[in-house]
Amino acid sequence: MNFKNITVAGGGVLGSQIAFQTAYKGFKVSLYDINDEAIEKAKERMEYLQSRYIKDLGASEEDLNQALSRLSFHSDLAEAVKDADFLIEAVPEVVQIKTDFYQQLAAVAPEKTVFATNSSTLLPSQFAEATGRPEKFLALHFANEIWKNNTAEVMKHPGTNKKVFDDVIDFAKAIGMVALPLHKEQPGYILNSLLVPFLDAAEKLVVKDVADVETIDKTWMIGTGAPLGPFAILDVVGIRTAYNIVEAKAKATNNEEYKNIAEFLKMNYIDKNKLGIESGEGFYKY
Ligand code: NAD
Repeated sequence: MNFKNITVAGGGVLGSQIAFQTAYKGFKVSLYDINDEAIEKAKERMEYLQSRYIKDLGASEEDLNQALSRLSFHSDLAEAVKDADFLIEAVPEVVQIKTDFYQQLAAVAPEKTVFATNSSTLLPSQFAEATGRPEKFLALHFANEIWKNNTAEVMKHPGTNKKVFDDVIDFAKAIGMVALPLHKEQPGYILNSLLVPFLDAAEKLVVKDVADVETIDKTWMIGTGAPLGPFAILDVVGIRTAYNIVEAKAKATNNEEYKNIAEFLKMNYIDKNKLGIESGEGFYKY
């Protein structure tokens, strides 16, 4: 892997974290966003991230200043990618926005640049053609708060070159991530392929009145040695996100069980502002 200059496209929640972590680990990073206002917001996010690196990682002023000195900010895409070995895309999770972005990028990026999408729910094959370089394109998916939740799921699409896949795995390790290779496309990657059906199953048990929340969590924790049960995990994820996922499934499938879960979450939690850890109460009090 000889990536040196990295471009991150989109300086929102995840893009700013990816850019900062990459600079913190010694790479030169160009952050691209659509206009000056978005760039200003990204800079504010970087301020906040520094406080978290001090608190969570014990980062020194010196390390943080070094990281900042390796970061540059751009609202001109051609300028942002002109030296890029690797570009990580973290623009909004909207098919048309991503497709348009890759078409613009394909027109200005150097031939050597490898592209990766951080998309949570869309598959790289959806955008492979728009990139104009399907063999140099794949998914690199981070988790929120990447400096401590340091998973990097690296996922090929059928046209990704093997060397590109290996290089991105090496890059992920170089920025302090635990690289998790996926040899095939899989909606939800590894983590959500496991977690979403697990959480659904737990919600179904409660909604069918088979057992209460505490009993279900206790069963899972004692039975498997896991530190948290499914409802404690839902409090971490946030009940609003859980509701959005189940509500979308209820609409798409017209399935009664999903509709009942959505109604249960809305009436007992969302409408009472019990949103999980973020609001101080969800299935449990914090
Ligand atoms: P966000 O809304 O916080 O940030 C999106 C950023 O993209 C904004 O700064 C916006 O100005 C910018 N943008 C909009 N249009 C653009 C364009 N055409 N070109 C460049 N930048 C543009 O979103 P986010 O939560 O950071 O999510 C970004 C991507 O990361 C999504 O694909 C999402 O699925 C993925 N992701 C998010 C999380 C999460 O927890 N938020 C976790 C993993 C992956």
